[in-house]
Amino acid sequence: MVAPHGNCPGAINVVMLGPPGAGKGTQAERLSRARKLPKVSTGDILRESVQSGTKLGRAAKATMEAGNLVGDDMMIAIVQDRLNRSDARCGFVLDGFPRTVVQATALDRMVADRGPLVVLDIVVPEEVLEFRLATRRICAKCGSTATPEWTAACGKCGGGLVTRVDDGIEIVRERLKVYQRQTKPLVEYYSSRPNFSSIDGNRPPDVVTAAVGAALDAAIGAAGHGVAQ
Ligand SMILES: [Zn+2]
Repeated sequence: MVAPHGNCPGAINVVMLGPPGAGKGTQAERLSRARKLPKVSTGDILRESVQSGTKLGRAAKATMEAGNLVGDDMMIAIVQDRLNRSDARCGFVLDGFPRTVVQATALDRMVADRGPLVVLDIVVPEEVLEFRLATRRICAKCGSTATPEWTAACGKCGGGLVTRVDDGIEIVRERLKVYQRQTKPLVEYYSSRPNFSSIDGNRPPDVVTAAVGAALDAAIGAAGHGVAQ
Protein backbone atom coordinates (compact mmCIF):
# COMPACT_ATOMS: atom_id res chain seq x y z
CA MET A 1 0.00 0.00 0.00
CA VAL A 2 1.30 3.44 -0.90
CA ALA A 3 1.36 5.94 1.95
CA PRO A 4 -1.38 8.47 1.20
CA HIS A 5 0.89 11.49 1.51
CA GLY A 6 4.27 10.03 0.66
CA ASN A 7 7.25 10.01 2.94
CA CYS A 8 8.58 13.00 4.77
CA PRO A 9 12.33 12.93 5.40
CA GLY A 10 13.08 13.85 8.99
CA ALA A 11 9.58 13.01 10.22
CA ILE A 12 9.33 12.65 14.00
CA ASN A 13 6.67 10.41 15.46
CA VAL A 14 6.25 10.69 19.20
CA VAL A 15 4.27 8.59 21.66
CA MET A 16 3.82 10.07 25.14
CA LEU A 17 3.14 7.63 27.96
CA GLY A 18 2.38 8.51 31.55
CA PRO A 19 -0.21 7.90 34.26
CA PRO A 20 -3.05 10.27 35.14
CA GLY A 21 -1.54 13.18 37.08
CA ALA A 22 1.91 12.90 35.46
CA GLY A 23 1.39 16.04 33.37
CA LYS A 24 1.47 14.11 30.11
CA GLY A 25 -1.24 16.22 28.43
CA THR A 26 0.58 19.47 29.23
CA GLN A 27 3.92 18.11 28.04
CA ALA A 28 2.38 16.70 24.85
CA GLU A 29 0.85 20.09 24.12
CA ARG A 30 4.13 21.94 24.74
CA LEU A 31 6.10 19.51 22.59
CA SER A 32 3.53 19.80 19.83
CA ARG A 33 3.83 23.58 19.84
CA ALA A 34 7.64 23.65 20.11
CA ARG A 35 8.19 21.15 17.28
CA LYS A 36 5.21 22.18 15.14
CA LEU A 37 3.81 18.67 15.19
CA PRO A 38 0.08 18.04 15.53
CA LYS A 39 -0.95 16.75 18.93
CA VAL A 40 -3.12 13.73 18.40
CA SER A 41 -5.05 12.97 21.55
CA THR A 42 -7.43 10.05 21.46
CA GLY A 43 -10.00 11.97 23.52
CA ASP A 44 -10.01 14.73 20.91
CA ILE A 45 -10.15 12.47 17.87
CA LEU A 46 -12.89 10.33 19.35
CA ARG A 47 -14.95 13.45 19.95
CA GLU A 48 -14.12 14.74 16.47
CA SER A 49 -14.97 11.54 14.66
CA VAL A 50 -18.26 11.26 16.56
CA GLN A 51 -19.10 14.85 15.57
CA SER A 52 -18.10 14.33 11.93
CA GLY A 53 -20.62 11.50 11.68
CA THR A 54 -18.41 9.21 9.62
CA LYS A 55 -19.16 5.49 9.61
CA LEU A 56 -16.39 4.96 12.18
CA GLY A 57 -17.56 7.89 14.25
CA ARG A 58 -21.11 6.56 14.35
CA ALA A 59 -19.85 3.13 15.39
CA ALA A 60 -17.71 4.66 18.15
CA LYS A 61 -20.64 6.74 19.35
CA ALA A 62 -22.91 3.69 19.53
CA THR A 63 -20.24 1.80 21.48
CA MET A 64 -19.77 4.59 24.01
CA GLU A 65 -23.50 5.20 24.37
CA ALA A 66 -23.91 1.54 25.22
CA GLY A 67 -21.46 2.16 28.06
CA ASN A 68 -18.65 0.13 26.46
CA LEU A 69 -15.03 1.05 25.93
CA VAL A 70 -13.97 1.55 22.34
CA GLY A 71 -12.09 -1.65 21.49
CA ASP A 72 -8.67 -2.06 19.90
CA ASP A 73 -9.89 -2.49 16.32
CA MET A 74 -12.03 0.62 16.35
CA MET A 75 -9.40 2.69 18.16
CA ILE A 76 -6.74 1.59 15.68
CA ALA A 77 -8.94 2.47 12.70
CA ILE A 78 -9.74 5.91 14.13
CA VAL A 79 -6.07 6.71 14.85
CA GLN A 80 -5.01 5.41 11.44
CA ASP A 81 -7.55 7.75 9.84
CA ARG A 82 -6.20 10.68 11.82
CA LEU A 83 -2.54 9.94 11.09
CA ASN A 84 -3.33 9.74 7.37
CA ARG A 85 -4.33 13.37 7.33
CA SER A 86 -1.82 15.68 5.68
CA ASP A 87 -0.87 17.64 8.81
CA ALA A 88 0.51 14.44 10.37
CA ARG A 89 2.64 13.60 7.36
CA CYS A 90 5.86 14.85 8.96
CA GLY A 91 5.11 13.51 12.39
CA PHE A 92 2.82 13.82 15.39
CA VAL A 93 2.67 13.72 19.17
CA LEU A 94 0.35 10.92 20.27
CA ASP A 95 -1.37 11.29 23.62
CA GLY A 96 -3.55 8.43 24.88
CA PHE A 97 -2.63 5.91 22.20
CA PRO A 98 -1.46 3.17 22.25
CA ARG A 99 -3.05 1.82 25.43
CA THR A 100 -2.50 -1.86 24.72
CA VAL A 101 0.18 -4.01 23.10
CA VAL A 102 -2.26 -4.82 20.26
CA GLN A 103 -2.55 -1.08 19.58
CA ALA A 104 1.23 -0.63 19.83
CA THR A 105 1.81 -3.38 17.27
CA ALA A 106 -0.66 -1.70 14.92
CA LEU A 107 1.07 1.66 15.41
CA ASP A 108 4.41 0.07 14.47
CA ARG A 109 2.85 -1.01 11.19
CA MET A 110 1.35 2.45 10.59
CA VAL A 111 4.67 4.25 11.01
CA ALA A 112 6.87 1.59 9.37
CA ASP A 113 7.65 3.89 6.41
CA ARG A 114 7.25 7.18 8.23
CA GLY A 115 10.46 7.68 10.21
CA PRO A 116 11.42 6.77 13.76
CA LEU A 117 8.94 6.27 16.57
CA VAL A 118 10.11 7.93 19.78
CA VAL A 119 8.46 6.79 23.01
CA LEU A 120 8.66 9.13 26.01
CA ASP A 121 7.41 7.74 29.32
CA ILE A 122 6.81 10.31 32.05
CA VAL A 123 7.39 8.62 35.39
CA VAL A 124 6.09 9.96 38.70
CA PRO A 125 6.03 8.10 42.05
CA GLU A 126 2.65 6.71 43.01
CA GLU A 127 2.29 8.78 46.20
CA VAL A 128 2.99 12.01 44.27
CA LEU A 129 0.34 11.08 41.69
CA GLU A 130 -2.14 10.40 44.49
CA PHE A 131 -1.39 13.78 46.01
CA ARG A 132 -1.66 15.59 42.69
CA LEU A 133 -4.92 13.92 41.69
CA ALA A 134 -6.46 14.48 45.09
CA THR A 135 -5.55 18.20 45.12
CA ARG A 136 -6.26 19.06 41.50
CA ARG A 137 -7.96 22.38 40.93
CA ILE A 138 -9.70 24.00 38.05
CA CYS A 139 -9.37 27.51 36.64
CA ALA A 140 -12.36 29.64 37.57
CA LYS A 141 -12.05 31.46 34.24
CA CYS A 142 -11.36 28.87 31.54
CA GLY A 143 -11.99 25.57 33.30
CA SER A 144 -8.65 23.92 32.58
CA THR A 145 -7.18 21.73 35.30
CA ALA A 146 -4.08 22.73 37.23
CA THR A 147 -1.92 21.23 39.94
CA PRO A 148 -1.40 23.76 42.73
CA GLU A 149 1.85 21.96 43.59
CA TRP A 150 3.68 24.13 41.06
CA THR A 151 1.44 27.09 40.39
CA ALA A 152 -1.01 29.39 42.09
CA ALA A 153 -2.65 30.54 38.86
CA CYS A 154 -3.94 29.00 35.63
CA GLY A 155 -1.10 28.27 33.20
CA LYS A 156 -3.34 29.00 30.24
CA CYS A 157 -5.10 32.25 31.11
CA GLY A 158 -3.74 33.35 34.50
CA GLY A 159 -7.14 32.91 36.15
CA GLY A 160 -7.56 31.96 39.79
CA LEU A 161 -7.76 28.32 40.79
CA VAL A 162 -10.69 26.86 42.64
CA THR A 163 -10.93 23.52 44.36
CA ARG A 164 -12.62 20.88 42.32
CA VAL A 165 -14.92 18.45 44.03
CA ASP A 166 -12.75 15.56 43.10
CA ASP A 167 -12.64 11.83 43.32
CA GLY A 168 -11.88 10.37 46.71
CA ILE A 169 -8.53 8.76 47.38
CA GLU A 170 -9.94 5.26 46.81
CA ILE A 171 -11.13 6.19 43.33
CA VAL A 172 -7.80 7.88 42.60
CA ARG A 173 -5.93 4.73 43.67
CA GLU A 174 -8.18 2.55 41.53
CA ARG A 175 -7.57 4.77 38.47
CA LEU A 176 -3.82 4.51 38.99
CA LYS A 177 -4.02 0.74 39.48
CA VAL A 178 -5.98 0.34 36.24
CA TYR A 179 -3.40 2.45 34.43
CA GLN A 180 -0.47 0.43 35.79
CA ARG A 181 -2.12 -2.86 34.89
CA GLN A 182 -2.87 -1.67 31.34
CA THR A 183 0.40 0.05 30.70
CA LYS A 184 3.00 -2.25 32.24
CA PRO A 185 2.99 -4.62 29.24
CA LEU A 186 3.18 -1.58 26.97
CA VAL A 187 6.28 -0.23 28.71
CA GLU A 188 7.81 -3.71 28.50
CA TYR A 189 6.98 -3.78 24.79
CA TYR A 190 8.84 -0.51 24.18
CA SER A 191 11.50 -0.33 26.88
CA SER A 192 14.27 -2.26 25.13
CA ARG A 193 14.20 0.06 22.12
CA PRO A 194 16.86 2.72 21.69
CA ASN A 195 14.14 5.31 21.02
CA PHE A 196 12.48 4.74 24.41
CA SER A 197 13.13 7.23 27.24
CA SER A 198 11.90 7.39 30.81
CA ILE A 199 11.58 10.96 32.03
CA ASP A 200 11.41 11.97 35.69
CA GLY A 201 8.09 13.82 35.90
CA ASN A 202 8.43 14.65 39.59
CA ARG A 203 9.91 18.06 38.85
CA PRO A 204 8.51 21.47 37.95
CA PRO A 205 6.77 21.42 34.53
CA ASP A 206 9.41 23.60 32.80
CA VAL A 207 12.20 21.26 33.92
CA VAL A 208 10.22 18.28 32.61
CA THR A 209 9.64 20.12 29.32
CA ALA A 210 13.39 20.62 28.91
CA ALA A 211 14.02 16.93 29.67
CA VAL A 212 11.36 15.88 27.15
CA GLY A 213 13.00 18.03 24.47
CA ALA A 214 16.46 16.66 25.27
CA ALA A 215 15.22 13.05 25.19
CA LEU A 216 13.57 13.66 21.83
CA ASP A 217 16.74 15.24 20.38
CA ALA A 218 18.84 12.33 21.64
CA ALA A 219 16.44 9.83 20.06
CA ILE A 220 16.42 11.67 16.74
CA GLY A 221 20.22 11.85 16.78
CA ALA A 222 20.47 8.12 17.43
CA ALA A 223 17.96 7.37 14.68
CA GLY A 224 19.82 9.58 12.20
CA HIS A 225 23.04 7.79 13.03
CA GLY A 226 21.35 4.43 12.49
CA VAL A 227 20.17 5.46 9.02
CA ALA A 228 23.65 6.66 8.03
CA GLN A 229 25.27 3.30 8.72
ZN1 LIG B 1 -7.55 29.47 32.89
